[in-house]
Amino acid sequence: MLPTLADPDEREALRFGADVLTHAELAAAAKAVAAQVGGARRVAVWATPSLRTCVAVVGALIAGAAVVPINPKTGERELAHILGDSSPDLVIGGPDGVTIDVTARLDGPLPPEADPESPAFVVYTSGTTGPPKGVLLPRRAIASNLDALAEAWEWTAADTVVHALPLFHVHGLILGVLGPLRRGGAVHHLGKFDTRAIAEALSGSATVMFGVPTMYHRLAADCEADAELAAAVGGARLLVSGSAALPATDHARIAKATGQGVVERYGMTETLMNCAVRASGDRRPGFVGPAVDGVELRLVDNGALVPDGEIGEIEVRGPNLFLGYLNRPDATAEALRDGWFRTGDMAVRSADGYVRIVGRRATDLIKSGGYKIGAGEIENALLEHPGVAEVAVTGEPDEDLGERIVAWVVPSGEPPPVKELADHVAALLSPHKRPRVVHYLEALPRNEMGKVTKRALHA
Ligand code: ATP
Ligand code: MG
Repeated sequence: MLPTLADPDEREALRFGADVLTHAELAAAAKAVAAQVGGARRVAVWATPSLRTCVAVVGALIAGAAVVPINPKTGERELAHILGDSSPDLVIGGPDGVTIDVTARLDGPLPPEADPESPAFVVYTSGTTGPPKGVLLPRRAIASNLDALAEAWEWTAADTVVHALPLFHVHGLILGVLGPLRRGGAVHHLGKFDTRAIAEALSGSATVMFGVPTMYHRLAADCEADAELAAAVGGARLLVSGSAALPATDHARIAKATGQGVVERYGMTETLMNCAVRASGDRRPGFVGPAVDGVELRLVDNGALVPDGEIGEIEVRGPNLFLGYLNRPDATAEALRDGWFRTGDMAVRSADGYVRIVGRRATDLIKSGGYKIGAGEIENALLEHPGVAEVAVTGEPDEDLGERIVAWVVPSGEPPPVKELADHVAALLSPHKRPRVVHYLEALPRNEMGKVTKRALHA
């Protein structure tokens, strides 16, 4: 059983708006679901952010089934793909308001404790680089990773995590719901991100905030504008960011406004969390911290290990790894070799083990004029220009350079001249990192996690 349901008590476990369940109520409701789920192998859960979703997930886990969380906004074609691919025995919830009766068969028999190697979830990846892939996550990976994060963040039953993340990815569901439940603590879900609601929660019982960088971007602006709000946010024990790179500028703005540095962590559906800044560690802008305890991390280029300070692809090994992609032996064999998972992410490690993510091998590594350049570094530099509100950097083919650097800029006002942006990057970084082409846009294409979908950027 993944969440801690032992010693159920009357303390709050889940809060969604005005709806609250105590640990005792959650245990009873989840056991009722488990009894109904019976011997199902896979249970799809329509993952609206609600108590029912959490009860259904915990219940299915207790029953020994693998949960397939479904994005409630999934379009027809993707839904057909996910349901066809994962072939669940049962779907709980759905668009027509189909609900589960959590009070029935409370004393139904439960199956024995599930095998740690059996799948607890099939989670679909964000689909940032291609169609979402179904990731088979064993119970062992979830238990070991949540315990390692608890160690890293000194996370206990006294903590309440506040967030507004979707419940069909690792971040919101596994870290953001099962994490607190496993510790015997609580989750406060806001339904929708709102800085004021976050600040109110953190002034009350909430101690930790989980969010994606787009949320911290708004938090930075709101805290700069309102000192009282900033003080409330600054009272958090931890502000944790992940799912995409937190721009160094936003990190610095939040630290200045609230007195609280954001703790970054880095992971993905296939591996859960690989790196995390510790609660007691140095909160360095642009760094995701050292490897999580028990996770081995190495940087590789063309099969050879790269020394500290140089760019390589991150490979990881450890109890946090997935079992494989569902129905995709080709993709599994490509990604998992000799027990090491090739993340597709490029990074640099400093001598003290802190990791800086440079970007994805496929979209963020630009080979220009014989140099290997990370898009993230240029994005961070451009964000330091007052005329740039948001930016994504890509490479495009160039006869002379191999690839030239292209910046897609959402200006904060009147678009700054291209030369001014190029000179700004050259002065901060180096001349070969200057963007050659700048496109001005009203907004960047992003998926529901706020991640920029670079494959949607075309001139
Ligand atoms: P797909 O695999 O379908 O293309 P995806 O990789 O975005 O989508 P996820 O597993 O949800 O799907 O996201 C993991 C990726 O998110 C990582 O591989 C990494 O590129 C990025 N990421 C996560 N945390 C961070 C972070 N702190 N800094 C930079 N990038 C991050
Ligand atoms: Mg991925």
